[in-house]
Amino acid sequence: MKAPRATMPRFGLGTWRMGENAAARTEEIAALTLGLDLGAGLIDTAEMYGDGGAEEVVGRAIAGRRDDVYLVTKVLPSHASYAGTLAACERSLKRLDTDRIDLYLLHWPGHHPLEETLRAFVELRRGDRIVDYGVSNFDLDEMRHVRTLPGGDGIASNQILYNLQRRGPERKLLPWCEAEGVAIMAYSPLDQGRLVVRPALREVAVRRGITPYQVAIAWTLLREEVVTIPKAGKREHVRDNVAAASLLLDEDDLAALDRAYPAPKHDVPLETA
Ligand code: NAP
Repeated sequence: MKAPRATMPRFGLGTWRMGENAAARTEEIAALTLGLDLGAGLIDTAEMYGDGGAEEVVGRAIAGRRDDVYLVTKVLPSHASYAGTLAACERSLKRLDTDRIDLYLLHWPGHHPLEETLRAFVELRRGDRIVDYGVSNFDLDEMRHVRTLPGGDGIASNQILYNLQRRGPERKLLPWCEAEGVAIMAYSPLDQGRLVVRPALREVAVRRGITPYQVAIAWTLLREEVVTIPKAGKREHVRDNVAAASLLLDEDDLAALDRAYPAPKHDVPLETA
């Protein structure tokens, strides 16, 4: 299963809340290692998570198998000046213990001019420190604007909040990204574990002999341009989630889910929490 950008796998492992607690590190590394063993090809992290701790956990999990992993990390908006982005990238590479990042994202729009961040991204790509770059939490107007800036045509991905309960992007942002060839990474596909399991979702899950959470993950992958990145610290969750990536929902399932979790009928601003 490949997203349009040939090297980006469609299923990844999230890492928010990892690297915050030294006592949990061994378990976290084991969860990521299991996910990679089971075929998850992508890991999503950020310099923000655990104040660099999550990147260190990821560095441990990918040691000796760097080429098996499509590695995504993010620069904080407060660091995203030209020089700040270059420096942040070097710090991330060190924590990740690697010589390249596959996709480097601006975590959300901030106060530094986007021109500067893009100039740094292009420079990092020229120096082979990153392979691709993109943004996160950018709504349609922000995407349209950033696309017009020097280097904006190179934006490979927009990572956004998108799940069964948060379907606003389907109105305009997803179609725009699809038309522009910008891959969408759906974060919080389980709504940070707060997915409300309505009866229709439970019924689909029972009919298929899987959990509602697996249905929700499979649902995020219905659109070909979408990559999903659930986070799981528990190994049984990792197993379930990787298996969900190859589930196919049928038209009856989708109709039932549409009725229970309808997309909004009016434009809504991109949600971020
Ligand atoms: P999520 O993946 O929607 O949900 C994670 C929660 O769901 C955890 O509490 C996890 O528990 C639980 N869970 C996972 N698999 C489960 C399963 N099969 N059954 C039941 N519960 C399950 O939330 P998220 O961490 O917010 O989002 C995923 C990733 O997206 C993040 O980790 C991060 O990499 C990225 N993200 C990016 C942004 C951004 O601004 N760009 C924002 C948020 C998230 P356990 O850990 O106990 O297994």
